[in-house]
Amino acid sequence: MKAQTVIALSLAALVSLMAGLSQIPAVRFAVLGTLLPLTSTIVVKPLKDDVYWVSGGMGNTGLVIGETGVIAIDSQMFIPTAKQQLEEMAKITPKSVKTIVLTHSDPDHVNGLPAFPRGLEIIAHDRAKADMQLLVSDLNSNGFPPSAEIKHYMPTRTVKATETTNLDGVPVILVHTGSAHTDGDLAIFLPRQRVVFAGDLLTPAIGPFPGIHLGKHGSSLGMFASLRAILALDADIYVPGHGEPLTQAAVRQSLKDAEERRAQVKTLFDQGKSVQEAKLALNDVALKGAAARFPTFVETTYQELIAERGVGPPAK
Ligand SMILES: [Zn+2]
Repeated sequence: MKAQTVIALSLAALVSLMAGLSQIPAVRFAVLGTLLPLTSTIVVKPLKDDVYWVSGGMGNTGLVIGETGVIAIDSQMFIPTAKQQLEEMAKITPKSVKTIVLTHSDPDHVNGLPAFPRGLEIIAHDRAKADMQLLVSDLNSNGFPPSAEIKHYMPTRTVKATETTNLDGVPVILVHTGSAHTDGDLAIFLPRQRVVFAGDLLTPAIGPFPGIHLGKHGSSLGMFASLRAILALDADIYVPGHGEPLTQAAVRQSLKDAEERRAQVKTLFDQGKSVQEAKLALNDVALKGAAARFPTFVETTYQELIAERGVGPPAK
């Protein structure tokens, strides 16, 4: 069995163990401590001039070398893996991180923040900041309690809608078109290098269809709008939150597949099928690895349709 498979299986087992222990915060902290050595090795990989994506840990992050410092995209889930990332970064540049852009507020993207020095510029969507403020008041609110230190890492600059800016000499477009994975997503487009860091607007390593975080007001139709917006940027490389970088053609295909899947789900819903019947009809499979406990796109679409109509599937 490949090392990565062992890691994925072990993580899945530990995540389900954690779910079972969720009533005991102290135990959850202890279990998190055993989870982190199992995350895969951090590797910093060049993409384009001054742009790197980082694989390993519990998801992807990004590094962009600016004029005076480094712009980091997301923080890793665990402090030790985030520290490992900083050690790897030191092998490619003497510059230190001065800015962090967060793609959204989920634990696998923000919990590693305390590995970075305090006092950095931290950029996030307004709603992601609100989630993080909730996290400070209730460390369990994202399901995976971070270090209490995270209170020193609240976003210092927020974005509400798509914004063109310049970070440390690097032209950047921060893209937000509305609720998608969550209501506080930001994709980062580097027009000079034609690279998009999409966060969890794209998650090919988890499953073939979008992940919609309904607990954070995500939306499948909003997801389609966001994917259309990042496709309109005409980038060459799209770095997902989880999985290998994608071509523009692959992103376009994922959007098409997701739109078709939603239409199929809607038809089955309107025919009065239960969610179980729809899952069976569409060969819906559980998400991969540590995400296996999260609902699939068929399940979240059912929940959306029920909320939209105010009732379950109509009687046959
Ligand atoms: Zn994620």
